[in-house]
Amino acid sequence: DDDLVRAVDRVMRHADETRGLQVRANADTPEDAARARRFGAQGIGLCRTEHMFLGERRKLVEDLVLASGEQERQAALDALEPLQRADFEGIFQAMDGLPVTIRLIDPPLHEFLPDLTELSVRVALADAGAGEATDKDRELLAAVKRLHEQNPMLGLRGVRLGLVIPGLFAMQVRAIAQAAKAVPGARPEIMIPLTVAVQELEAVREEAAAILAEAGVDALIGTMIETPRAALTAGQVAEAAQFFSFGTNDLTQMTWGFSRDDVEAAFFSRYLELGIFGVSPFETLDRDGVGRLVRIAAEEGRAARPDLKLGICGEHGGDPDSVHFCHEAGLDYVSCSPFRIPVARLEAGRAALSQNDSDTR
Ligand code: PEP
Ligand code: MG
Repeated sequence: DDDLVRAVDRVMRHADETRGLQVRANADTPEDAARARRFGAQGIGLCRTEHMFLGERRKLVEDLVLASGEQERQAALDALEPLQRADFEGIFQAMDGLPVTIRLIDPPLHEFLPDLTELSVRVALADAGAGEATDKDRELLAAVKRLHEQNPMLGLRGVRLGLVIPGLFAMQVRAIAQAAKAVPGARPEIMIPLTVAVQELEAVREEAAAILAEAGVDALIGTMIETPRAALTAGQVAEAAQFFSFGTNDLTQMTWGFSRDDVEAAFFSRYLELGIFGVSPFETLDRDGVGRLVRIAAEEGRAARPDLKLGICGEHGGDPDSVHFCHEAGLDYVSCSPFRIPVARLEAGRAALSQNDSDTR
């Protein structure tokens, strides 16, 4: 009833006035962005662009990845750029002047390759005289085999893909710049995924900065911190990044050596029984291990670049205990799925209050 609504509004307002942590959303579509704003998001902390390449566009990415020559590759890029530009315009419009962190494409490659087994069977049957396969099938099979990985989550993903496929990141950055010019007040931030070394960033940043300068668009360029090495070399990484966003899904996976795709793994319940952890580390940020890496990266990053902006965009960004951790570690913002934003706002307020309490005690 009305009294309850007013009371909730009052509590939320109090939390918002108290908290220092900003709350952003993970959103990839204008619809999600609009929803995020209704829940009180102060920006988008993670726009995952790989989701924009599924469906009909998947074929264009497949063409790009498997292109045998410069012309084929350029044709795929030329087809993708206007689509991406429209994607970003929609999101900038929905966010109406709030910051939007766009992460350059970060798919596990196998999601964009044709199925190897199916292709192999077709060619093997043809070789045995029991079916037909074209020369193109055989070429494709050879190309897919060259790119096949036993462990795609540790393979050609993130910035590695951008460095290996010429023009891919540049196409996205051009689309971002053009979209930003078309939408008054747009505030793009460009984020590079899965960095392990500052040298990767330098290569990408230089190209991106040149494209932005040519378009006359201002945008921060930063990186995800989601590998232990990036966290441990944060002082170097910060030389080439204007912001860090902790990708604690991957950081947890790589720190514990547990697959994030098997979070219901058979051994988890045994680990809970044994008290090795009280809650899955994929749910609540593990302060002792992953949290230590976050603190090291935050400290060393800020020592190298005092105005370094710090955020988190892994699932932990919407988990109450993890939000408290982020406050304690001095981050500037958390970013989480739109539906978790009210909880994040509330917990960020509580974290600030409990700190004020202990400061005055
Ligand atoms: C992460 O790894 O925490 C992250 C936000 O990126 P993604 O979940 O898309 O890998
Ligand atoms: Mg990640």
